[in-house]
Amino acid sequence: MKSILLLLSTFFIFISESLSQSNTSQQAQKFVIVLHGGVGTISKSMPDSLKAQYLNSMAEALTIGKKILQQGGTSLDAVEKVVRYLEDDPMFNAGKGAVYTADGSHELDASIMDGRNLSCGAVASVRNIKNPISLARLVMEKTSHVLLVGDGAESFGKKMNVEFVPNNYFDTPRRYEQWLNFNKQEIKGTVGCVALDIYGNLAAATSTGGMVNKMPGRVGDSPIIGAGTYADNQTCAVSCSGKGELFIKHSVAYSIAALMKYKNYSLKEAANEIIREKITQGDGGLIAVDKDGNYIITYNTSGMFRGAANSSGLFEIKIWE
Ligand code: ASP
Repeated sequence: MKSILLLLSTFFIFISESLSQSNTSQQAQKFVIVLHGGVGTISKSMPDSLKAQYLNSMAEALTIGKKILQQGGTSLDAVEKVVRYLEDDPMFNAGKGAVYTADGSHELDASIMDGRNLSCGAVASVRNIKNPISLARLVMEKTSHVLLVGDGAESFGKKMNVEFVPNNYFDTPRRYEQWLNFNKQEIKGTVGCVALDIYGNLAAATSTGGMVNKMPGRVGDSPIIGAGTYADNQTCAVSCSGKGELFIKHSVAYSIAALMKYKNYSLKEAANEIIREKITQGDGGLIAVDKDGNYIITYNTSGMFRGAANSSGLFEIKIWE
């Protein structure tokens, strides 16, 4: 009896050791995460304190995503959590801090895509959802639809018990000021994240308040799968920022994947070509990561809030070149 017990316990120790080894070897595989906080005319003479706030916030967001991937979490969780963090931060034009519409309120758009199976979900023109990106994920996971808008999206949110806020929760003095002066400067901005996890899965997420002074009901590229967001394990994951109408017309995010798939372009060639050929100077940029872990950040504006980290120790946050 004793020897049977001994044999059994040795067997279980062996099994549990080999399980943890396979876990360790999985965790040694590579991951990449890239985020953006939007493109635009970003003045290099911005006060140091403001610059520091942007850099710190992006570093915080990137750390959240990096930890998830490092601990063996999925790219889908990483992109959602990073975007949620940026939505809650009033510095960026998404969630709290969203720009104002022409009637002085806020309408938010977001989408998320899982590169494993092309599952995707999006919401547009929501006015009271604290974190549109999480509602977009619920659309993906709990409905048979891809995009819910306005009241329909909000009543789905109620059913899902997501957090609701009054529309003026999104107010910030800085955006109000920009809205009053919107003729003098064109404000762009959006947040997004793309990631490759240690299992080789790609995901992308984008969330925005849209363009300042937009017509009520206007929907940009951010919640449009294939325009502002795309992810396919066979090619790449993409999140865009810029003048949404252009990104919709040229199906920017999907076009990059298509050039890779059908024309054998590298990620860099595809992304640079689309931004160069399709997006007029000053109107946009994007972040993308491919299935092999190559990533690109490309834009034709004066700057782009962005950060990138990977399993080889890269951790970089930038605003300008
Ligand atoms: N692409 C967003 C939109 O058109 C705005 C932006 O990225 O600046 O709604």
